[in-house]
Amino acid sequence: MPTSDAHALPTSVDFAHDLVRARVQPGDWVIDATAGNGHDTLFLAQLVTATGRVFAFDVQPEAIASTHVRLREEGSLEPCTLIHDSHHRLADHLPTEACGHLAAVMFNLGWLPGHDKTCITRTETTLSAVESALEWLRPGGLLTIVVYPGHSGGDTEAQAVIDWASLLASNTHEVRHLRPANRIGKSPECLAIRKRPTL
Ligand code: SAH
Repeated sequence: MPTSDAHALPTSVDFAHDLVRARVQPGDWVIDATAGNGHDTLFLAQLVTATGRVFAFDVQPEAIASTHVRLREEGSLEPCTLIHDSHHRLADHLPTEACGHLAAVMFNLGWLPGHDKTCITRTETTLSAVESALEWLRPGGLLTIVVYPGHSGGDTEAQAVIDWASLLASNTHEVRHLRPANRIGKSPECLAIRKRPTL
């Protein structure tokens, strides 16, 4: 039996990464809305390179500190601004010229693995944040949200995000819901929303 399966289908986190990787270029401005341990912040920093900008949010000081360490170790601090605040206040922290110019915004909801499970993302602030994120995207920009219906408290949040996304007008937004069809309600799911380019 092989220990790893190189041909396994993408997980919901992989889907989010694959979609972002194909659409974010050096020089782009992006947001990691849930920095956690900094994996996505680093991923984004490597895509936008030193000429781009990554704004990374987290409400836990430990998450900001661990993201900082990861970025420093990888030599990727330069494009990053780490913001110790809730993502729903993004407009208070980003320069106004970023509005309508973001290439991508990534959310990975839930709690920080290995940390306080009571510090989870909450439906109300999540909905407010995804709404602002959409506003700040450029035409053609991409929003990804990994939701955790199987985590305690994550089910209602996941449903609220899915309901919100399903109501977006299809002439202005492409919306995809990617999930393991035989583990619904148990595994993470990925929502991908692209603001249609203005023609
Ligand atoms: N569930 C994922 C990890 C998510 S980490 C997994 O299993 O891999 C989610 C991060 O969001 C945590 O670090 C948490 O501190 C952060 N967070 C929670 N509420 C937030 C908010 N309102 N604004 C920004 N970050 C928040």
